[in-house]
Amino acid sequence: MTNEHEFAGRPLGFSREVADGVFAVNAAFWGFPNVVYFLRSGRTWALVDSGVAETPARAIAPFLEQHGGFGSLELVMGTHGHVDHIGGNAWLKQHAPQARFALGALDTDWAEDPHRHYETLYVHGAPGGWRPDSETEQVVREAIGGPVAIDHPLVGGEVLTFGLGREIETVHLGAHSPGQTLYIDRMTGCAFSGDAVQGAGIMNTSTGLRDFPMYRTLSDYRASLEAIRSLRPALLCTAHAGIHERGDVDGFIDRALAWGVRFTETILDIATEHGSFSMEELVEHLGERMPEYALILQVRVTAGEHLNALVARGDLVPTMEGGAKRWTRRQAPAPASSSTVPSQTDR
Ligand SMILES: [Zn+2]
Repeated sequence: MTNEHEFAGRPLGFSREVADGVFAVNAAFWGFPNVVYFLRSGRTWALVDSGVAETPARAIAPFLEQHGGFGSLELVMGTHGHVDHIGGNAWLKQHAPQARFALGALDTDWAEDPHRHYETLYVHGAPGGWRPDSETEQVVREAIGGPVAIDHPLVGGEVLTFGLGREIETVHLGAHSPGQTLYIDRMTGCAFSGDAVQGAGIMNTSTGLRDFPMYRTLSDYRASLEAIRSLRPALLCTAHAGIHERGDVDGFIDRALAWGVRFTETILDIATEHGSFSMEELVEHLGERMPEYALILQVRVTAGEHLNALVARGDLVPTMEGGAKRWTRRQAPAPASSSTVPSQTDR
């Protein structure tokens, strides 16, 4: 296994061949580790993920200039529609107009409509009405880049081909984003998972803070992790969380699952201590217990999903107070006592 900081200190565009015709390329941005992958067939390339808007000029162009030029880029496969995976699409379309773009069908609106991307994910994405400040808004809007039509809207099960016929299988995973897609290179058995496995969240080396793992419904997340485990890829190639050999995938998946279990316990612990909380109060309590994390969009999305799971299993009771949601710890029911409830049928 190589860890997520394998390329720390390396220039952007620095590459390593991790399997036959599969190159991992350093595409770090804003202090986050990030790797995009090039797959070769004959004289042409397929690319997994395009980074943020500035990534192609800074990290992808240096690689392509040494490996056949922009005319050799045939296929761009987005693992999902988040800013740091499709943000470079417009730059690539401009410099490699022949390239075809693939993305999970449920995420295509985020690549084809940057305004909708920002509004749905950042303005309306978090429960409780939280939104980023105006400085963050500007940075994110620039990073999303321009709109590019998706030539291959994927639902999973398709086989993409490029070059001399190198075949890429697609698996729909959802969870981290609605259209999160796993790509499997049939020739090497390498799988490209984007952000499907979230571990304990990604450390930003500029801020020293981790981003919370982010996913929609805890059960979808668990199902997507087990799906990856059962695929037994020869190499699991992630965007921000390293490259894992087959023998390391189980442990990597187990650590991601364990993080989720601990996070549920932490929320329940806070509910027991405080009795009840709003989302913003919960985020404040989480900040005290988990000071290594940035308290932005992701904590609210993920906490919201864990709260739903705790409500579903009866540990928390949701209410609306003045239009705002609160969660209250359900008290353990008193032990049943037949003597206090006389019943005629008992006689
Ligand atoms: Zn993502």
